[in-house]
Amino acid sequence: MIIIDKNKCPQDHQCPAIACCPKKAISQYDFDLPVVDQDLCIGCKKCVKFCPKGAIQEEF
Ligand code: SF4
Ligand code: SF4
Repeated sequence: MIIIDKNKCPQDHQCPAIACCPKKAISQYDFDLPVVDQDLCIGCKKCVKFCPKGAIQEEF
């Protein structure tokens, strides 16, 4: 399961990981914390590499 850590994401920019997701599973309202739709996410982890803050993580 992919989660986004609100303590690591500064929530002050448009999330670049949104565009990399092949399933369009990541959404974001304004500069709020991005949200992963767990029903759409296939766990490919592409988004993990796009976050410079290490906020997008795989949680077991
Ligand atoms: S790339 Fe990381 S730090 Fe930037 S908005 Fe997305 S989750 Fe937050
Ligand atoms: S793991 Fe893959 S499918 Fe899931 S949110 Fe990240 S890029 Fe999208």
